[in-house]
Amino acid sequence: MQNLLLVRYGEIFLKGLNRPYFIRALVRKIRYAVRGLGAEVWVHDGRIFVRGFSDPEECIARVTRVFGVHSVCPAVEMPKEDFDAVCGQAIEMVRDLQGTFKVNARRSDKRYPMNSPMINQEVGYRILNANPNLKVDVHEPEHLVNIEIRDMAYLYVRVIPAVGGMPVGTNGNATLLLSGGIDSPVAGWMIAKRGVQINAVHFHSYPYTSDRAKEKVLDLARKLSFSCCGIKVHVVPFTEIQMQIHEKCPEEYTTLIMRRYMMRIAERIARQSESEALITGESIGQVASQTMTALATTDDAVHMPVFRPLIGFDKSEIIETARRIGTLEISELPFEDCCTVFTPRHPATHPKMEKILEGEGRLQQEELIQRALDGTEVIRV
Ligand code: ATP
Ligand code: MG
Repeated sequence: MQNLLLVRYGEIFLKGLNRPYFIRALVRKIRYAVRGLGAEVWVHDGRIFVRGFSDPEECIARVTRVFGVHSVCPAVEMPKEDFDAVCGQAIEMVRDLQGTFKVNARRSDKRYPMNSPMINQEVGYRILNANPNLKVDVHEPEHLVNIEIRDMAYLYVRVIPAVGGMPVGTNGNATLLLSGGIDSPVAGWMIAKRGVQINAVHFHSYPYTSDRAKEKVLDLARKLSFSCCGIKVHVVPFTEIQMQIHEKCPEEYTTLIMRRYMMRIAERIARQSESEALITGESIGQVASQTMTALATTDDAVHMPVFRPLIGFDKSEIIETARRIGTLEISELPFEDCCTVFTPRHPATHPKMEKILEGEGRLQQEELIQRALDGTEVIRV
């Protein structure tokens, strides 16, 4: 007899002929997640199993966070020939349960002497006799006692919901504008959950923002790195650009022009990294630079799709997600980011494109961007 985890995947089922490719990708990601636990991950009969782990709770905690995993079932694998032993194991697995149950047997080995209805009936009967706290409900049972008869017998009752989504890397690559705030890590997490490999860009305005502020962003990236299977962070020196904008452009437009520069630089880095889109943590109306008119001006600076997965989220919803994925406590650390240092008193909420272009006309755009790219540091976390 052996304890293992049966890993159930969700949307991969939708993928038709590509399914083996998605399953292989998911297996690789699960292997990455459980490294160090001594676990073995393998596919058998189209199902993914994990076994040989030293710490079951830790193993479950990690596997349920892998994008692409729908749920995890702690299961027992045992010889199917001794039916009494199979029944004994089923009784053991529901020993502490109460309420209603149903046995759900599946027999893929058609030579097995009992068919599924017979197994259901016999195991159900023995469970009823052994556990007075359980009643049968075949329509809406609280507990489903699953028994699969394959080359071996597999039994499982507990189904632990997992994060869902699709395996990272199966849907391409995108570049996240990662600040030290609450929103952008959540935005990156949401897109990664859809199977996208994340590449991050952070704009750093030393000495206006400290090394601690940069460390904070790297800590956020490290936090995301488990789910995202590693992230490359491009730290771009942004002080010169901010100073120039501050000196030469109309004050109410400085934030937007700065945002447009961030987008342009992120787009260059994205193209070098074979990213197909940019990701930001913006949501409609959250601040002046996120009115619909303002968002249109930042879109206008690039020739690449810009994904804003938080666009319709309230701040409270974003905070809730940040808490759940573990980035909130880092984002709440007090180090200032480069936007807060140069914030105008009255930012334009209905910006005029000609004013932006007029302001930008006073800057040596190509040289500024090139120097920022030349000074960029790449850190893999
Ligand atoms: P966040 O909480 O993620 O910082 P925010 O609500 O503070 O977002 P803004 O400061 O207006 O909003 O930034 C909007 C978006 O621009 C961020 O979500 C992020 O994607 C990007 N951004 C802002 N500052 C930086 C930065 N220093 N480096 C990289 N991206 C940034
Ligand atoms: Mg911010």
